[in-house]
Amino acid sequence: MFRMRRLRVNETMRRLVRETKVSVDDLVCPIFVKEGNDIKEPVDSMPGIYQWSIDRIDEELDVISKLNIPAILLFGIPKKKDELGSEAYNDEGIVQKAIRHIKEKNKDLLVIADVCLCEYTSHGHCGVVHDHDVDNDETLELLGKMAVSVAKAGADIIAPSDMMDGRVEFIRKALDDNGFVNRSIMAYSAKFASAYYGPFRDAADSAPSFGDRKTYQMDYCNGKEAIRECFSDIDEGADIIMVKPGLAYLDVLKSISEQTEYPLAVYNVSGEYSMVKAAARNGWIDEKRIVMENMIAMKRAGAKIIITYHALDVAKWLNESN
Ligand SMILES: [Zn+2]
Repeated sequence: MFRMRRLRVNETMRRLVRETKVSVDDLVCPIFVKEGNDIKEPVDSMPGIYQWSIDRIDEELDVISKLNIPAILLFGIPKKKDELGSEAYNDEGIVQKAIRHIKEKNKDLLVIADVCLCEYTSHGHCGVVHDHDVDNDETLELLGKMAVSVAKAGADIIAPSDMMDGRVEFIRKALDDNGFVNRSIMAYSAKFASAYYGPFRDAADSAPSFGDRKTYQMDYCNGKEAIRECFSDIDEGADIIMVKPGLAYLDVLKSISEQTEYPLAVYNVSGEYSMVKAAARNGWIDEKRIVMENMIAMKRAGAKIIITYHALDVAKWLNESN
């Protein structure tokens, strides 16, 4: 009889035939930076996650560098918001200041700047609003300005998350025209309009004040359209493409990874994190085992890069097991 169990007889044998591994090299840690002083404010819906002011952010960065995590994804929370999100492209804005501070001390850490207006607009939408609709082409101008502004501050990777059409091409040109030909673009290519973003909106103070984001983020029923989104971002010049959220979209991740050789990122989003945390706090699941299983699932589906709020824990666990 052919016995599949022969290759499972003990841990050493399982190690030898194991197909998928997660490494610290795969991880990106999201960070929320808030304007003000002496802030380490817990995000209630995301236990373990904080909003940081620049004067305290080194506490978090020291841990990240000790764990050798290669990259962070930065979100800014400004004091002032307005209709056009002007703090997003202010060279003295919160995220620009944070990037300068971080790059000064952590030269080897890759700083990925999220480029979108929703944390900076008074209405909480990702672009310029006319008649309760986001104007695509006017928004591109502002995204281009933000991309150049964060690149000037030192961001290594520009990550547009707005889902406007044509933004990758527009941003690529803006970066090139301003001398940033070697700064890469990680596009939130297949970003679905998802209820899994709920806790993030607490963390980034970015809930839309009216309506929803369904006219620009993708309908979660559409897997084939996600592939078209990825290819259109590649055509426009994206260096890395992304699927967001992660766990409910492994089929999308898998099919994109089979159709392109581009580095593929996945965003293991706030709602996915909070569900695990809540269940673990109740003693209903084993947090470490669940988290590692989730990480492997995203890698097995084809992700190379995992953006996750579990990054510090995962890196600690991986270091312990080495
Ligand atoms: Zn946005």
